Amino acid sequence: MTQPIIHESLAENNDVVLEKRKNLPEFDRKLLEYEDALALCLNAVQDPVGTEELTLENSLGRVLREDMISQVFVPPESRSMMDGYAVIRDDVKCATDDHPVTLTQIDNVPAGHVSMKRLGPGETIRIMTGAVMPQGANAVIRLECSRCLDGRQVIIMEPVGENPYVLLKGQDLVPGIVTAKSGTLITPAVMGVLASCGVSRVKVSRRPTMAVIATGNELVDPGQIPGAGQIYNINGYSLYGLSMAAGAKPVYGGIVRDKSDDLLHVLCSHMDKDIILLSGGVSVGDYDIVHETLVRAGVEEIFWRVKVKPGKPLFFGRKGKTLIFGLPGNPVSSMVNFYVFVRPVIDKLSGKQTYGLDTSKARIINNRIIQPGRRKFYRGRLSSRNSRLEVEIIPEQRSGVFSPMATANVLIEIPGHIKVLKTGDMVRVHHLDCSR
Ligand code: AMP
Ligand code: MG
Repeated sequence: MTQPIIHESLAENNDVVLEKRKNLPEFDRKLLEYEDALALCLNAVQDPVGTEELTLENSLGRVLREDMISQVFVPPESRSMMDGYAVIRDDVKCATDDHPVTLTQIDNVPAGHVSMKRLGPGETIRIMTGAVMPQGANAVIRLECSRCLDGRQVIIMEPVGENPYVLLKGQDLVPGIVTAKSGTLITPAVMGVLASCGVSRVKVSRRPTMAVIATGNELVDPGQIPGAGQIYNINGYSLYGLSMAAGAKPVYGGIVRDKSDDLLHVLCSHMDKDIILLSGGVSVGDYDIVHETLVRAGVEEIFWRVKVKPGKPLFFGRKGKTLIFGLPGNPVSSMVNFYVFVRPVIDKLSGKQTYGLDTSKARIINNRIIQPGRRKFYRGRLSSRNSRLEVEIIPEQRSGVFSPMATANVLIEIPGHIKVLKTGDMVRVHHLDCSR
């Protein structure tokens, strides 16, 4: 992360305060429902970002933008899956410990070599794992079930079972098979599948560019000494990390003081980004200058305020191709809003097939009284017991207490009308991909 740029100046403006007070009634308008807000976020993304070509080893975590079609057979030839002896199945079908079969060894073939010999009845070729099956052979007997007498006579003590230890040509993939569709996230396994087909370069989405800017007179960055009344900037880091983890390319825009001119200046310098994330100052407090500054910057408001908890004051707008989120300053709210609204937008911009966190149903294991009203996203700990998903509501849910965010592995979605959650109730959980 680069050194923060700090835009010094304290918000000293009665004008701002007076303007805010005038607008307070307007702020009480009906809140947007969660689903409607999410739909507006996704609708604002018309097209995915452009593409770039990468070498396979650099493609982890990126999103494919072309269907990958195998051009080859995998494996290219039938191969032995064991160290042993290539045989003709019929020759050894009755072999046992008590009645072994003796075969004549005519060749020896390590991986990477092909035997020039063709197997005839009563013959065998010693073969190592991965070597191409010799012509005429159709099964492999493991070394453990055979004995070599004098380098030429081999005693087989095992019949050919269900699994002849041969992987047939094209048994994994054949030409024309789609190995990964456009929109697939490139995981280590996808890299392996593409490698198995000999693919060395892939067309992927470029990473959406983002600016992460924290606003607040009270903030200092870690590494600095907080003065009286100051706290460390959490959001600049958590949002930066979330953006990275979502596959975007964030720049750290530092801390901007609660002064509209300062914010306007910083905002304008980031209008080349796909997304600008602002945190703090987006509500109606005396020093909340984000909304008015976005208006001054010519940002078109798509919505402001959503019926979710935490995170009511969320702003979403657009200027040209740049999408702008004004996230609440509260660090829990800003992370939750990121997961719920920003993450799906990054996914759609990246050209993914599905948007947002994976969800599943889980059984609650503790009781909790809920204040009805807004849709809630509680922090939870998901585990699996007797192959059932169970989720504990983390007891500390006050949005001012941040650290449980690091122990949560899901957000528990609670519809607005729910007044109580009891052990055994089923809820929808959103999986936080904490590991990346
Ligand atoms: P605001 O939305 O600006 O009214 O901020 C709401 C609460 O979140 C206040 O207690 C702020 O001090 C706190 N806050 C705002 N931004 C940050 C930040 N980047 N890191 C930590 N706390 C913050
Ligand atoms: Mg503030």
